[in-house]
Amino acid sequence: MRKWAIEREVIEAINESARYSLPNEFLCLLRAEEGVICELLLLPGTLSGESHGILDVNMAPISYGVAGSAHSHPSHSNEPSDADIGFFNSMGGVHIITCLPYDDGSWRAYDSSGRPVDVDLV
Ligand SMILES: [Zn+2]
Repeated sequence: MRKWAIEREVIEAINESARYSLPNEFLCLLRAEEGVICELLLLPGTLSGESHGILDVNMAPISYGVAGSAHSHPSHSNEPSDADIGFFNSMGGVHIITCLPYDDGSWRAYDSSGRPVDVDLV
């Protein structure tokens, strides 16, 4: 199984964007280099709504090292919803969910089946 790592600044950017997006969700894609998630990819087709972020996957620059996605929950749960797991399935890769209060302990990473995975902070 693939082992992922993520740069601390990426987590901070996700949490900051999540705070900024309140009361809505924040959603973006993640780019990785050699298994290290190093960048957020913001997509022009991405809308955020109060119920759930909507992502136009066709807008994703697939050849650009897309490793998965990250989104925020405007609640205290970072558990994936059924819709989240359906989306993870369709994309593959690694997926991060962060929740209130959007700090270092708020986020969790999941595989494409919605199972929690360990991701190292680098
Ligand atoms: Zn969600």
